[in-house]
Amino acid sequence: MKNPKMVPLAVNGGIGFGAKLTPRQLITLGSYLDEDAEVELTTFQQLIIKVEEDKVQQATEELKYAGFSVYKAGNYVKSLRTCNFCKGAEVEGMPVAKELNDRIAGQEVPFTLRPAYTGCPNACGEPLINDIGVIKRDEHFELYIGGKAVGEDAQTGVLLKDGLEPEELYELVDNVLEVYRKNGRKRERMAKFVSRYGFDKMKQELNI
Ligand code: SF4
Repeated sequence: MKNPKMVPLAVNGGIGFGAKLTPRQLITLGSYLDEDAEVELTTFQQLIIKVEEDKVQQATEELKYAGFSVYKAGNYVKSLRTCNFCKGAEVEGMPVAKELNDRIAGQEVPFTLRPAYTGCPNACGEPLINDIGVIKRDEHFELYIGGKAVGEDAQTGVLLKDGLEPEELYELVDNVLEVYRKNGRKRERMAKFVSRYGFDKMKQELNI
């Protein structure tokens, strides 16, 4: 008999106070895995599991019901990495982080894109070494692009704009992704794209 096609799914516990999973979530997750199945834990707070193609919809629904967020694995915008919101959800902008994640996670891009959010300038969520980084400073948001944590060409992101209101932040991130999608080469990371395409040219195109 032909082996069923397996589809990778990226799951995590969603945005909250720290990266935590409940026993109920783990039991639900286990019901889709064989005893010797391998689960990959990525550096991006996601677990990659493989599910039979014809069970993807059912698995997605059940995992979401158990409180997981479920994303596509591959060259998409990953779920937003966040800090632990140690000073409180509202003060540190958790609703904005959730909304931003809902808008961008799963969008198609030339290469896997890692966005990060942090609720204050202490920057525990490491926004400056991810492709797109957001820092909440007082009542406003700063957007950084082009950070890269790995490789000998590792670098911090560059401030694209500060003083952003939530709606301005969502729109600017969307526009950045659109410029990258339209002009990025296949498998070209955001950091490489920004240096090849030009930071100033990006700003011009984004009208900022
Ligand atoms: S970035 Fe700020 S709010 Fe977030 S965990 Fe660190 S200190 Fe707390």
